[in-house]
Amino acid sequence: MKIICVGRNYGAHIEELQNERPEHPILFLKPDTAIVLKKQPFFIPDFSNDIHHEVEILVKINKIGKYIDKKFAPTYYEEIGLGIDFTARDLQAQLKEKGLPWEKAKAFDGAAVVGNFLPKSTFESVDDINFSLKKNGETVQKGNTRLMLWKIDALIEYISKYFTLKIGDIIFTGTPAGVAKVNPNDKLTGYIEETEVFSIKVK
Ligand code: ZN
Repeated sequence: MKIICVGRNYGAHIEELQNERPEHPILFLKPDTAIVLKKQPFFIPDFSNDIHHEVEILVKINKIGKYIDKKFAPTYYEEIGLGIDFTARDLQAQLKEKGLPWEKAKAFDGAAVVGNFLPKSTFESVDDINFSLKKNGETVQKGNTRLMLWKIDALIEYISKYFTLKIGDIIFTGTPAGVAKVNPNDKLTGYIEETEVFSIKVK
């Protein structure tokens, strides 16, 4: 399986990092080796002093598809989840400055937390889902999918022009504002609406 991530999909997050508003979705990939295994902690890698949490809504693909029209996109997923796109912000800044790919800062081992998935039918609309991240019991990121610049179905249409989507692929749909550094012994807990969908220790 592969992970397809969307960058800069929430206005407030674009502003906090003083990035430009993209004309099209920004995409990058993470390999399956980036996923933190269930019940394991996240280990801060030795090549970064500034690992940020980015909490993001996840979409799990359940059907193979390419050139998927937006109106058929809902038939390609049944489950919505939540995860963290861990980012080595210091390394990413260096790579961005040189115009180099972000992979080392975004796709390293442990850079993807994938929480539990909930059936799509749980929600009245996938374009109105509240989600949040607590760090040591305090809410640090909060979002709602209605604030995405490109909504889930539009993302599936766009992504599938470039990458064939396969069963089990996961889309990370972008982070809202509030990204910040993690430190050893932090505990990160993710919520979709009121349901806890992951809890992970930082080491
Ligand atoms: Zn992200």
